[in-house]
Amino acid sequence: MTHIEQIQSALAAHGLDAVVLFSDANTRWASGFAFTDGAVAVRRDAAVLVTDSRYIEAARAAAQGFDVLLYDAQHRLSALLRDFLGGCAAIGAEAEGLPHARWEAIGKALGRDLRAADALLSGLRAVKSDAEVAAITAAQRIAEQALTDTLPLLRPGVSERAIAAHLTYRMLLLGGEGNSFDPITITGANTSKPHGVPGDAVVRDGDFITMDFGTVVDGYRSDMTRTVAVGHVTDEMRCVYETVLKAQSAGIARMDPAHTGADVHNAAARVIADAGYGQYFGHGFGHSVGLEIHESPSASPRNTQLLPVGAVITAEPGIYLPGRFGVRIEDMVRITADGPQNLTLAPKDLLIL
Ligand code: ZN
Ligand code: ZN
Repeated sequence: MTHIEQIQSALAAHGLDAVVLFSDANTRWASGFAFTDGAVAVRRDAAVLVTDSRYIEAARAAAQGFDVLLYDAQHRLSALLRDFLGGCAAIGAEAEGLPHARWEAIGKALGRDLRAADALLSGLRAVKSDAEVAAITAAQRIAEQALTDTLPLLRPGVSERAIAAHLTYRMLLLGGEGNSFDPITITGANTSKPHGVPGDAVVRDGDFITMDFGTVVDGYRSDMTRTVAVGHVTDEMRCVYETVLKAQSAGIARMDPAHTGADVHNAAARVIADAGYGQYFGHGFGHSVGLEIHESPSASPRNTQLLPVGAVITAEPGIYLPGRFGVRIEDMVRITADGPQNLTLAPKDLLIL
């Protein structure tokens, strides 16, 4: 089934006659065509992609199964949507990410009270096709090669910023379309900040370095984290590292359709708590990845739903000791009927450079 057909068959289940999409990720997922501004609208019997003169030629060549319409000063976007959706009573749209004023204006232009359709789209996007998983995996392989290429740089004196720049450069040269997100490359005491920003701090002997980064292939993102040591480690650093690795394994073992996101998180959190570090693991175990870096479903304590077959979810527990050091290890895992399939191949044994 094409993504359009998937949306059309989900409309009835959500009590909708049509849905109109504006966000870059949803319009791309629905149409297979990347553009900004404009919209995709889907009725049970037809679909349109409305864009402006910058994209119209490429859209007509690329978008399959759509009528592609041009909007400009004479043909307003809202008027084109109103014509297409005229016979539809229940119209859904994205409430999240759309400014309230725009939501109101669209509803007014269409002459309808819009209904939130975020769950319809996030539910469909949660289940990745083989082609989507192939793109995510290709991005992951590029990131892994970039890490291998960057390891020789990780010596005392190199700055956090230089590590981020090198990873980015290698991923671009290897075919990545751009960073999945701003790389987190931090060293020493900065590693206790889960989302620290790389700066001028330099690597010193005895540091942990945490690198959290990814790239993009065909619009799909990868996400991985590795923590490595430079020179030597203390017994405590080794113990924290081994605990995070054990917690990750415990979580991954439950990444299957018989467990909820909370089950996965709690299994990892229990390992960390049993080792005495419970208060130092403050974030969720993982999030889905796709066209966006944070998608649904998550492997967090709040997700009490079973994980769907086809989801690609990160496994990224961490322990962060304020002012001292932190460790995070992150892989991407595909949920299959047979259990977890780890899409990440990079080794995880403690590496002391
Ligand atoms: Zn990450
Ligand atoms: Zn992540």
